[in-house]
Amino acid sequence: MSTLEHTADVAEVTAADRPLSGLDRCDSCGAQAYVRVTLSGSELLFCAHHATKHEAKLRPMAEAWHDESHKLSA
Ligand SMILES: [Zn+2]
Repeated sequence: MSTLEHTADVAEVTAADRPLSGLDRCDSCGAQAYVRVTLSGSELLFCAHHATKHEAKLRPMAEAWHDESHKLSA
């Protein structure tokens, strides 16, 4: 397994596991992001509002759907 030393792969896994922070902003409106969508190797960040708005279209195509919107109601 030592051949799997492609930095891009490592970065991708790390990014996918990274929790969202207050510095992450919705790509649509600039509000704090609570959902990160991995799509074709790139990331999209959405607030809860825009995640809901785009979910029906994006979720079937997304490689990962990281949703922290539960933090809003905690
Ligand atoms: Zn938004």
